[in-house]
Amino acid sequence: MSVLIVGSTALDSIKTPKTENPRLLGGSASHAAIAASFFSPVKLVGVVGDDFPKRYIQLYKRHRIDREGLQILPGKTFHWSGEYEVNMNNRRTLLTELGVFETFVPTLPNLHQKSQFVLLANIAPSLQQHVLNQMQRPKFVAADTMDLWLNIALPDLLKLIKRLDAFILNDSEAHQLTREDNVFAALKKIHKLGPKYVIIKKGSHGSILSGPRGFFICPAYPLHTIVDPTGAGDSFVGGLMGYLATAQGSIDENIRRAMIYGSVVASFCCEGFGVMRTTRITKAQIEQRVKELSRLTRF
Ligand code: AMP
Repeated sequence: MSVLIVGSTALDSIKTPKTENPRLLGGSASHAAIAASFFSPVKLVGVVGDDFPKRYIQLYKRHRIDREGLQILPGKTFHWSGEYEVNMNNRRTLLTELGVFETFVPTLPNLHQKSQFVLLANIAPSLQQHVLNQMQRPKFVAADTMDLWLNIALPDLLKLIKRLDAFILNDSEAHQLTREDNVFAALKKIHKLGPKYVIIKKGSHGSILSGPRGFFICPAYPLHTIVDPTGAGDSFVGGLMGYLATAQGSIDENIRRAMIYGSVVASFCCEGFGVMRTTRITKAQIEQRVKELSRLTRF
């Protein structure tokens, strides 16, 4: 089964203490779509301007990502720029130029509306809802968000959360949403907002799932060097959704393993700028890291 992924499709200019790289392929939907493509077919929904490099379209193509829902409009592609500190857990946004993203209305082609697995990657919650309104009986809907929407669009976000099967956010966002310092207390509060599954991402410390079968602590793959963590969270959810869409059996049976696969794809993402490393992963390398994680956590 394929996964429908809507989110930002961007050009990212990224500065790390060691180097900087302008106008890389970025955006929540790009990272998530490439990650998901290792497991299942992907339908991408987003918008880019006429300045969007052809080689990035080729990259989507190489990953067999369906681009019927990708609008190419006159104007500039969404441009985001961020700078990392020596401790790469800390990042600040230098620039956000919305470009064609400012007036983006995600309209789904007919076939897209029948998708069973839907990932509403980071984008304004009103747009995430707009996509959800067009879906015909999806089986599993997951959404990610960012601090910006908690600050400027909380009522929209709360309306969206009510309609989700799974809500995925990072630990600082969970704290901001619930005012809870304790992650387990925060998970409990977020369940009360609607979703059956809540996943809190903790960067290099992995992630925690709370669902009908209780908690699951998912490790991050131990990396010695991080080149650029941009998009790791998106790669995690993308990998997770791609795995879920192809796995046999129920969501409950598969979601833990799906998180492990998501975590492994995210680890590759951190090893290169933008999607440079992710686009070069082989299936065998993914399986190798999954095995290693299994060995590292068995006792
Ligand atoms: P992450 O590292 O998982 O937080 O995701 C980084 C990605 O989010 C980058 O590729 C950016 O292009 C994208 N991004 C940054 N700001 C926004 C925004 N306001 N809306 C949607 N996507 C964004």
